[in-house]
Amino acid sequence: MIGLPFLLRRLRELRLVGDAGERALVREGILTLADLDLAIAEGRAVAADAALRRAAGVLPAEYRPVTLGRAWDILDAFIDSLTRHCPALQAIEASGPARRAEPIVTGFVIVARAADPALAIESISALPTASNILYRSGSRALVLFEGHEIDVRVATPGFYGSVLFTTTGPAAHVVAVLERGGRQPYASETEVYATAGLPCLPPETRDAADAIDRALRRDVPALVRREDMRGDLHMHTTYSDGRDSLRRMIHAAHALGYEYIAITDHSEHAGAAHTLTDDELGRQRDEIADLRAQAPGMAILHGIEVDILPDGTLDCDDAVLETLDIVLASLHDAAGQDGDQLPRRCLAAIRHPLVSVITHPANQLVGRRPGYDMDYLAIYQAAAETGTALEIDGAPTHLDLSGERAREAVRAGATVVIDSDCHRSRSLDRQMRMGVGTARRGWVEPRHVLNTRAVGDVRAFIARKRAG
Ligand SMILES: [Zn+2]
Ligand SMILES: [Zn+2]
Repeated sequence: MIGLPFLLRRLRELRLVGDAGERALVREGILTLADLDLAIAEGRAVAADAALRRAAGVLPAEYRPVTLGRAWDILDAFIDSLTRHCPALQAIEASGPARRAEPIVTGFVIVARAADPALAIESISALPTASNILYRSGSRALVLFEGHEIDVRVATPGFYGSVLFTTTGPAAHVVAVLERGGRQPYASETEVYATAGLPCLPPETRDAADAIDRALRRDVPALVRREDMRGDLHMHTTYSDGRDSLRRMIHAAHALGYEYIAITDHSEHAGAAHTLTDDELGRQRDEIADLRAQAPGMAILHGIEVDILPDGTLDCDDAVLETLDIVLASLHDAAGQDGDQLPRRCLAAIRHPLVSVITHPANQLVGRRPGYDMDYLAIYQAAAETGTALEIDGAPTHLDLSGERAREAVRAGATVVIDSDCHRSRSLDRQMRMGVGTARRGWVEPRHVLNTRAVGDVRAFIARKRAG
């Protein structure tokens, strides 16, 4: 069954195109918002139409944007289906905003390689999971999958790099690179950039306004990767609002090969469904001691995620916090306070000798609540001075610090920590990868990150601050 891509349907509904206009758009390969954005950025004739420009500015909100976590779920499921049913496809990769680890994703793209793209496209059209093929050509299929349009691009090996590069976006970056050269087909992105006289930029950095300038200065450091992460210092269990038992979380983290983890349930008065009393903290300590034998080679730090109360004190006595291996502190509840009082609370926690990490510092909820409006520079500087790590939280609802803020934080000399803040064992790896993607958007390098270091160095970082 052939439907109509969302973009064309909306442009028709808005009476911005008729039959002839639609044919012209299809001829130019403009089937998605990303295509339209790129055509406008390139100044291509058909898209230079003022009405289409306006539509490109308005339509994203209607395009069913989803969080990065949901986008990865959808894309992973579809890639899995392609891998199983379409053996002709090689090097299947998510492209577009999901590849750049944007917190909110508008538009799904998958790129793959095949010796004969037309044949591969035919096999995609026969997929049981593709409920509807909205468009197909010899190298492209627009597929409806779980209610979302997925743009599948299939390239011959010699074109693969160019297709991956242009679909990754964003449009302004693609045009800026191509204007310097690299318009011929290339097998790899590295060749696209090399022809433009640039080192290859990681996808997550391509939204940065100064990405090309940094590339021109050869200032593209090796950014932190998932493989650099030696531990995860923030996760929850059924002792607070986690879905899985302490035992399951420990086993799952051990299976990921971590050298260390921290168990950090919520303090008693946090706004979570279930929190830790002092008694339960004691029981948890004993249970962790018993479970250590089941996770050989992995250190288990006993910690807590303690709320920063409205007066800036912590939701747990120092005498109790002192007995823990690591203390994370969080501004979960704004308590009706504003841009003056909130940073004061945060700074009080940063100056507390027992607090080693501030979790999701801006307390943003992706797509629902912007981060607190605070003087972040003061927070980054205080964190750097006191030896307190600022978290890049990989939970898809948080992704906080954001890439932009993480970049400013490390520039101010602060150490960051990338955590999963996981509440279920099966998401430990995924949320760590999202945290790493967010850090890479902030040009964060392994040396900036606490948990790329050995456990002895992590313990020393904590001890140094405690010793004052
Ligand atoms: Zn939290
Ligand atoms: Zn948490």
